[in-house]
Amino acid sequence: VIPKKILKSLRVPPGEAVQLADYATDWDFHPELVKLGKDQVREAAGQILAENQTALAEAQERLWASDSWSVLVVLQAMDAAGKDGIIKHVMAGINPQGCQVFSFKVPSAEEVDHNFLWRYMRALPERGRIGIFNRSYYEDVLVVRVHPEILEKQRLPARKFDRKFWEARYDDINRFERHLVRNGTMVLKFFLHISKDEQRRRFIDRLEDPEKHWKFSLGDLAERQHWDAYQEAYQDALNATSTKWAPWYVIPSDLKVTARALVSEVMVSRIERLKLGYPEVSGEVEQRLADALSALRAEAAKGR
Ligand code: AMP
Ligand code: MG
Repeated sequence: VIPKKILKSLRVPPGEAVQLADYATDWDFHPELVKLGKDQVREAAGQILAENQTALAEAQERLWASDSWSVLVVLQAMDAAGKDGIIKHVMAGINPQGCQVFSFKVPSAEEVDHNFLWRYMRALPERGRIGIFNRSYYEDVLVVRVHPEILEKQRLPARKFDRKFWEARYDDINRFERHLVRNGTMVLKFFLHISKDEQRRRFIDRLEDPEKHWKFSLGDLAERQHWDAYQEAYQDALNATSTKWAPWYVIPSDLKVTARALVSEVMVSRIERLKLGYPEVSGEVEQRLADALSALRAEAAKGR
């Protein structure tokens, strides 16, 4: 397990104004880790991830059995920060029946003809399940904020995309998440935080390897040119939407294995806090099950 104080240091405190630049992107984000050194941190993170894969599978089963809560995992990040790897590795042990992943791309004409939360509402996990949003309604205050020309095409009644407009969207999001939590959907939000240098290294890596070219989008290079605008949009969004009911976690993601260990640790510890148990079977049903068992055993004995 990862010490609580380390996890806590990754949480954006609700109601405070933080600077994204104060959050580390690398493995050495906490003094206790610096003492260990990179190799040991990497090894420990690998072990924690493996343990949490099992723990998460168990947590998911209890979630399914108690059928009252669902968990929504929101993943946001700059390109190449490792969202897909998080989904693949953190969810590796989970029963596919109990989880679902939705990846959100540029919205369709039908989608922009609705309010901005519409397409996400339709993709929410039902009780008992873990749902992952690979990108989310936060894109509507991130990419759209960096490129307001997208909004201009969306035929909204609002004509000015000023501070007030964005404040209203943050407010919509906060109330939406409040609604979810009150109705049994836990909301876990992760920002995979990488440095601009690390993104460059990963882009180079993908470009140097023809087998990784399919993963490369030229659009990602264009977005890199807007790095600072994105960081600012992220910082504003994190500050405005880290709430008591749905706080943000800023996950240092330059080293993939620590990022995966941290996300899985937050998921396991938050789901465990729901204290879900298996439903109790009544005494009467227990008696009937015992009778059925004896009858089946008797049938087996006769057949032999
Ligand atoms: P990827 O996740 O790499 O496949 O890319 C999906 C693309 O869709 C990204 O460039 C996002 O910025 C874009 N996208 C996702 N949601 C929205 C949205 N609500 N409005 C505009 N673009 C979006
Ligand atoms: Mg991409």
